[in-house]
Amino acid sequence: MKGIRIAVGYARTSGIINPKSSIPTQMETIKKYCQKNNIILKHIFVDECKTGTKVEGRNQYQEMKKLIKTEQIDMVIVAFSDRLARDSYEFILTMNDMVEQGIEFVSVSENLTSHFMSPLQIVMMGLQVELENKQRNQRIIESSREKFRQGKFIYTKKPYGYDVDKNYYLIIKEDEAAIVRRIYEEFLKGKGTTLIARELNAEGLYNKEKEKPWSNVKVNNILEHKTYTGLIYHKEKDEDGNFLYIPVSDREHPAIVSVDMFEDVQRIRQKSSRKKKEVKNFHFLSGILMCPNCYSKMYGIAERGIYACYNKKTNLTRCPTVDKEKIESLVFEYLSEMDSVRQVTSQQKNQSNKEKEYKKIMSEKEQCEVKFAKALLSLETFEKNMEILNHQLKELQEGRDLLVYITDDDTYDAIIKKNDLKQLKERLNKEQLNFTFNEKMELIQLENHPAAK
Ligand SMILES: [Zn+2]
Repeated sequence: MKGIRIAVGYARTSGIINPKSSIPTQMETIKKYCQKNNIILKHIFVDECKTGTKVEGRNQYQEMKKLIKTEQIDMVIVAFSDRLARDSYEFILTMNDMVEQGIEFVSVSENLTSHFMSPLQIVMMGLQVELENKQRNQRIIESSREKFRQGKFIYTKKPYGYDVDKNYYLIIKEDEAAIVRRIYEEFLKGKGTTLIARELNAEGLYNKEKEKPWSNVKVNNILEHKTYTGLIYHKEKDEDGNFLYIPVSDREHPAIVSVDMFEDVQRIRQKSSRKKKEVKNFHFLSGILMCPNCYSKMYGIAERGIYACYNKKTNLTRCPTVDKEKIESLVFEYLSEMDSVRQVTSQQKNQSNKEKEYKKIMSEKEQCEVKFAKALLSLETFEKNMEILNHQLKELQEGRDLLVYITDDDTYDAIIKKNDLKQLKERLNKEQLNFTFNEKMELIQLENHPAAK
């Protein structure tokens, strides 16, 4: 074994939505492997599944070939061997050449190295493992469907308000169920979700050892959980962003709220969500949120209340879209937690006297984004304009603090009303905070990520 080895990494998307194999995850896997094994990682080449037309010479592996010819590289590392398989037979052959020239090829997740097999064999093994996983997953899906149909609740996370008995049937957990009923009743009386959350917290009505405090997101989750009406439902969104509830069980369990009550709540929520859509045209996570599938930047889509990546707009991949309000409140909660740890003082929230200049640049940026969202600007023009504006903004910001921090009494709704979202966005840019999310809608922060710039 040599002392210090130098490696390049290679990551690519397959066009299938799976956070486990997203570009950031692949990059993390490669980086961790290098740290653990004392390998110097020179560069990670990323092939995004961008368009159907391949331009010769623009592919990252061509770049990689060049680099390997001109510089001393000992290893090429990928996260999963199936990353290479899809229409990259040429790439595999290239790898084979490299291995013959003495460059080691490693696939981290399957722990496979070209010391023992050829790149082609590595890929074949990777594919076999993938196929077996798929078949196993299919069996699991079928047996879970059957269990759900029998009314068995087999998710690990039970709905708040219920316990699961030894037969996996839902039974009422009285103290929690009382809070669920209270949330529905208060919402129907006209209380907002933020206020409901705050009052529950003030009364200490959450399990401080096991749970985070109530938030408007959590209260909203309770209000849209139809399983409380006595059957297990799956929830899907239709094209207009409305929920569709699909019953998956035949067996009834004890209800916590009546079907009428549930539907009254949904009517009110739909009305208010329509109203909110009209008000909120600013997408503060545009360019900050990364697509978990292709890892390009996601932008707000005007009128639709969602974020989508450019690939999604061109319909070439199966990239996910995400509900604007949901992801924005998640980021807001994340920041407010971060700031409460940092003990941000109200002083830090002070605005400076260059406010006017700042506002001007911000409104230009906003117009630019609106135009892009309405497809009046090409991606190139948009990115160029944004770069210029960001540069102006950076110059303006040198030596002063315009960042918006979140104090205890701020809520997502209040920040929107105060129109502070633009400054909040600048803060995210300045702190180089980028986010993505997984299938379970959990927020993932990508801090100072090279690919996130
Ligand atoms: Zn995408």
